[in-house]
Amino acid sequence: MEARLRPHHILCAQNFVGYGYNEEFTGRMNRITESLMAGGEIILHEGCDDICSACPNNKEGRCISLDKVDRMDREVLKVCDFSYGDRLDPEKARSYAKEKIFETEDFSRICGGCQWYEICRKIRIKVSRIEKYENIMHKAEMMLEGSMDYDAEVLREMVSELAAYYESAEWKEDFADDEAGRLPKGIKRGVLSEDGIYDLLERYRDFCNKYKAD
Ligand code: SF4
Repeated sequence: MEARLRPHHILCAQNFVGYGYNEEFTGRMNRITESLMAGGEIILHEGCDDICSACPNNKEGRCISLDKVDRMDREVLKVCDFSYGDRLDPEKARSYAKEKIFETEDFSRICGGCQWYEICRKIRIKVSRIEKYENIMHKAEMMLEGSMDYDAEVLREMVSELAAYYESAEWKEDFADDEAGRLPKGIKRGVLSEDGIYDLLERYRDFCNKYKAD
């Protein structure tokens, strides 16, 4: 299912973890984020969109914070080089939001005046951390299975980093947030599965033993 979204709602959709103005609004956000996860296309829309239509701040088709949200919309279009009417696949929207806004100073500049900014800022810190370890785990798995060039020292460092994360308070916090549905749905989170890192550490141990025996 496609979704008509005003440009700054591309950002809101990435960080949605259940907060909203009321039940109808959060229900709508849930349906839209699920449809994006299923690959539903985004059409960049000017003015009140499929999210606004369930929002109490939408008064007769006009946002009561129009100046603020209009500025945010224009900034997102400019930074991402998008135009109204563009059709985006959700993966492109995700990567543009991440690389051009969330991981740059434009994040606070564009979203700093929004009442949800502090929640989104904390979510992005967690998402970056989880993505970092997810990436390390993926590379370590590829080295262990032989589908990526293997460097003993690099692999050892990656496994050490994963082991330290697995034993840290941060992993416990990320795990608890995941269990409680406080992380955005779209992110990969193999590092937070009960056995994800544990199994990799076991495989690494077996790999080292075999390497020594050979
Ligand atoms: S606050 Fe304004 S821009 Fe945001 S969802 Fe509500 S109507 Fe739309």
